[in-house]
Amino acid sequence: MRKIQMVDLSTQYHNMKDEVDQALQAVIDSCGFINGGPVKEFAKDLASYLQVAHVTPCGNGTDALQIALMALDVQPGDEVITTPFTFVSTAEVIALLQLKPVFVDIQPDTYNIDPEAIEAAITTRTKAIIPVHLFGQAADMAPIMAIAQKHGIAVIEDNAQATGGRYTFPDGNEQMLGSIGDIGCTSFYPTKNLGGYGDGGALSTNSSSLANAIHLIANHGSDRKYYYDAIGVNSRLDTMQAAILQSKLKRLDTYNANRRKAADAYDAIFSDHDAITIPYRAPYAYHVFHQYTIRIAGGRDALQTYLGEHDIPSMVYYPVPLHISKAYAKYGYTSGDFPVAEEMATSVISLPMHSELDHEQIEYITSHVLAYANNKI
Ligand SMILES: *Cc1c(COP(=O)(O)O)cnc(C)c1O
Repeated sequence: MRKIQMVDLSTQYHNMKDEVDQALQAVIDSCGFINGGPVKEFAKDLASYLQVAHVTPCGNGTDALQIALMALDVQPGDEVITTPFTFVSTAEVIALLQLKPVFVDIQPDTYNIDPEAIEAAITTRTKAIIPVHLFGQAADMAPIMAIAQKHGIAVIEDNAQATGGRYTFPDGNEQMLGSIGDIGCTSFYPTKNLGGYGDGGALSTNSSSLANAIHLIANHGSDRKYYYDAIGVNSRLDTMQAAILQSKLKRLDTYNANRRKAADAYDAIFSDHDAITIPYRAPYAYHVFHQYTIRIAGGRDALQTYLGEHDIPSMVYYPVPLHISKAYAKYGYTSGDFPVAEEMATSVISLPMHSELDHEQIEYITSHVLAYANNKI
């Protein structure tokens, strides 16, 4: 059996080695390391994949979120509503721009932001909502967009974990994640569903005025060398990363289908076990399983130790909700403010999930999880 890893980037590379090697060699031969041809081509490819009018690649997913907020022209003290159960970037960029992160609780089944909690948190200073499509599953975008429209607030989708995921509106209309809000942000960190071989990110939008602002901000506020129209940042996707991502984008639907097959295989074995809570699949979401996250009776920490003893990696995303993380204490939240997020942070555990998991590996992982669970009911 191949060694089990949370993510198997090596096998994925070996399955497309010639194509990647040639694309990289072509970039080196061209010496167009910054803003070379593949960057523009990849931006076009991704826009057409996401069915949006504009894509601007940038340095990483955190920058994408920061640039998105800057493009909204927010002022210090303005409020941005988001979830406390996410990777830190989502809240970090809010704080960095001297805005106020306003956290609201999550839904216990999807782990995503609770639309009902959003409306109660809106004030006259609320400028944006950042829902996160956590673990590869869409936040419930129809009510979120309705609340935003009602109050004239922007929506920035944090789509770092769900590139290729989709959301179906109540009228049956299905849209790619990252194409629903005013701006979509994603990350090409190597372990994401669409991952490069280093850092990378992108913003997507259907608004040409936002696209212009985003383009300017990501390039030092400049459209023309040495003429500056806005305060910007230096955030570019390397040409080498763009060349790799072009090859991987063609395979993304297959990668995501493989993740879903692995999730189906896990579900089939775990679904009627009383001690195991499998990932809930919301009817409106095409889940692309960035993570396969379960809860287990008897405690996830003991399961993690047990799996580790059998060479099965697992991870806890995320052990501390952001509102009670030390760095965010100054915003005045305390334990008990968001009981669902706090409960999930103590009980979730993610099992190995990637596009190259094979039958034998899944069999090995599930038999050990079951062996643990059978002692816990
Ligand atoms: C990975 C991630 C980011 C940040 O992306 P980077 O490319 O690592 O900066 C932001 N939000 C979420 C939810 C993520 O998972």
